[in-house]
Amino acid sequence: MFGKSINLFRLFGFQVQADMSWLILALLITWSLATGYFPFQYSHLSPAQYWGMGILGAIGLFGSLIFHELSHSLVARRFGIQMKGITLFIFGGVAHMEEEPPNPKSEFFMAIVGPLSSLVLALLLYGAMQGGKAVGWPEPASGIVGYLSFINVLLAIFNMVPAFPLDGGRVFRSALWAWTGDIHWATRLAARFGSGFGIILMVLGGFNFFTGNFVGGLWYALIGFFLYGAAGQTYQQMLVNRALHGESVRRFMSPDPVTVPPDLSVQSLVDDYLYRYLHDMFPVLDGTKVMGCVSKKHVGNLSRVEWPNKSVADIMEACSPEKTVQADRDAAKALAQMIKTRSSRLLVLEGDRLVGVIVLKDLLKYLSFRIDLEEMERAA
Ligand SMILES: [Zn+2]
Repeated sequence: MFGKSINLFRLFGFQVQADMSWLILALLITWSLATGYFPFQYSHLSPAQYWGMGILGAIGLFGSLIFHELSHSLVARRFGIQMKGITLFIFGGVAHMEEEPPNPKSEFFMAIVGPLSSLVLALLLYGAMQGGKAVGWPEPASGIVGYLSFINVLLAIFNMVPAFPLDGGRVFRSALWAWTGDIHWATRLAARFGSGFGIILMVLGGFNFFTGNFVGGLWYALIGFFLYGAAGQTYQQMLVNRALHGESVRRFMSPDPVTVPPDLSVQSLVDDYLYRYLHDMFPVLDGTKVMGCVSKKHVGNLSRVEWPNKSVADIMEACSPEKTVQADRDAAKALAQMIKTRSSRLLVLEGDRLVGVIVLKDLLKYLSFRIDLEEMERAA
């Protein structure tokens, strides 16, 4: 969510990451468990015991979220859907799909397994707590296990609300999709439920906040706000994927990109190219073969007095794979690459031959045009 995540470990071949926001959440959970929940439930323990329980409770919640997301990822893999990994962030976890599920059935199983796993885990933990009580576990131990059982039930219930993109919303979408065969319509309706539920949570949050439950109110509002945004975003994402489906980069590229020769002086690069075309980066070409890339940054590393004496070949670097894309690649993948690497343009290659350039602005213009037209058709 805040974009900065740390790699933790690999599990069944999936990379597990935690967003920085999760660390804040972990502290908040530990604190509220140690000073609120556990002292309220068990009144005669020491502060050290409450804090120990708080820390273990937060770790257990962390494990529960991973368990939940892992179940999604494993089922997805069974259906042959590429998964990138699992990221924990402030409101829970996300299992990253590289593509949309291919059919309603795969989406249904992929989505429902999450809440089911949480429910099963809750039952197991509940059994463990009862068993522990019977054999005389110390109170803090059964307290933590009991809390984790409770939180997994909550996790299952919250995720089953039919609000896309929550799991329940995905189950809902898969049913609509199976019923009509129209994923577009199904997503739109499920996403409306998602935004609607988001709004309800925000209103509920506001109400709680102004009637004195500040922290609870703030949480509702935050979750609602997040869900509202996510519903719209996933819907947009689906429209984009569909609009670009099966289209290659070649279709959107402009041929004859502006290139510079290697023996050009840096002075002319600045005067005749950088200031004229205002591109961040220029490919350096020898015939049709790309020798490297030169950008504003390379010029910036040089003192101005050296500009007339240095050539482009002196300062250029190999073009990073992030800045290039093969002509036959999927346009949706190219778009994802541009967004991820924050590039406004990519060089289009055929092998190592430069054949064009693909520009973010053009791609977005095409998308908004096409999506507008399709939405108009649907509304008519
Ligand atoms: Zn889930």
